[in-house]
Amino acid sequence: MTHPSPDPDLALRYLSGETDEALLFEHSSTLRDEGRGKVVTYSRKVFIPLTTLCNDRCTYCTFAKPPGAGGVYLEPDEVLAVAKAGDAADCTEALFTLGDRPENRWPQARDFLEGKGLDSTIEYLAEMSSLVRSETSLFPHANPGLLDDTAMTLLRPTNPSMGMMLENISTRLTEPGMPHHNCPTKEPVRRVATIEAAGRQKVPFTTGILVGIGENHEEIVDSLFALSDLAGATGAIQEVIIQNFRAKADTPMRRSAEPVPRWFARVVALARWIMGAEASIQVPPNLTESYEIYLQAGINDWGGVSPLTIDWVNPEAPWPHLEDLQRRTQAAGFELRPRLPVYPEYINEDWIDGGLLADVQAAADDDGLAAIWTKIGVA
Ligand code: SF4
Repeated sequence: MTHPSPDPDLALRYLSGETDEALLFEHSSTLRDEGRGKVVTYSRKVFIPLTTLCNDRCTYCTFAKPPGAGGVYLEPDEVLAVAKAGDAADCTEALFTLGDRPENRWPQARDFLEGKGLDSTIEYLAEMSSLVRSETSLFPHANPGLLDDTAMTLLRPTNPSMGMMLENISTRLTEPGMPHHNCPTKEPVRRVATIEAAGRQKVPFTTGILVGIGENHEEIVDSLFALSDLAGATGAIQEVIIQNFRAKADTPMRRSAEPVPRWFARVVALARWIMGAEASIQVPPNLTESYEIYLQAGINDWGGVSPLTIDWVNPEAPWPHLEDLQRRTQAAGFELRPRLPVYPEYINEDWIDGGLLADVQAAADDDGLAAIWTKIGVA
């Protein structure tokens, strides 16, 4: 039976359970098989939390901390210690995750940057990316929040890809009582502008949605269609993460309900249907116990998985051991392969800085995936 083209009304009926989800799952799996085959990828990474200071106060977040609790910034030797450990463990990605422009809020951040002769966190991130590039074989993947054209120009020579979650397209989530109230960097229009900048600056870009933070079904569907439009308009979206909210102790949302995996899998399947066969759709495997369900929903990637460092954004959720991930992925009928932080279709002179391209190509195999695979197998 032919499945209809992406349609917001039908998407809503799937989410509410009015239309049988079996059709959706079958279609999204078929699309994935057509566009991405039976290879499921992950990025072998270390997580570098350059600073846990942040301008914002999202009510579900435990990553951001005040200076007294989380320190200010990692010093260069601390950054390098993590990166070198990653290098020794055959990682290929240095995931720089950090709070968004902490210097706007915290004098301690301004003092630190001033002491280094820098004006912004982005400048420090560019310096640390260069350090990692010069001292290790890892490729930085910067996740510093909002980015404009200037910031991308600064980071592009050392970062073959970058990322920032859209989270949701609805401005309602910034209203009083909602999770993004008083979070200026979470205004959807500014997040969309960042993805548009990635298109102009030719930066392969990872984005996605966070599901279960108080949005309604229409807002989920609107967000997926917005990402589909942005992917078409910019050509820059290399992957879409569909992430389920997990309630964390010590946050205002600690008692909020988490999405039920079976229902959340419908969102994942909708993402495949709406983004299309060629898109890369990722779900983190460490936030759901029976994560194989997302393979049935049409994903082709598990995202960054670290053999070394914790998931600093979800520290309560351990990464699945890579051998376990391999075994379970294989048992579901797929081959697990490590990829680079940049996807194969973007490894070319249009999308990667001229000074970086040869190194990225040298790290890739004939499929554009991580060549390290031939040395380490998978796990
Ligand atoms: S979710 Fe991101 S932007 Fe929001 S407070 Fe945490 S680190 Fe800052």
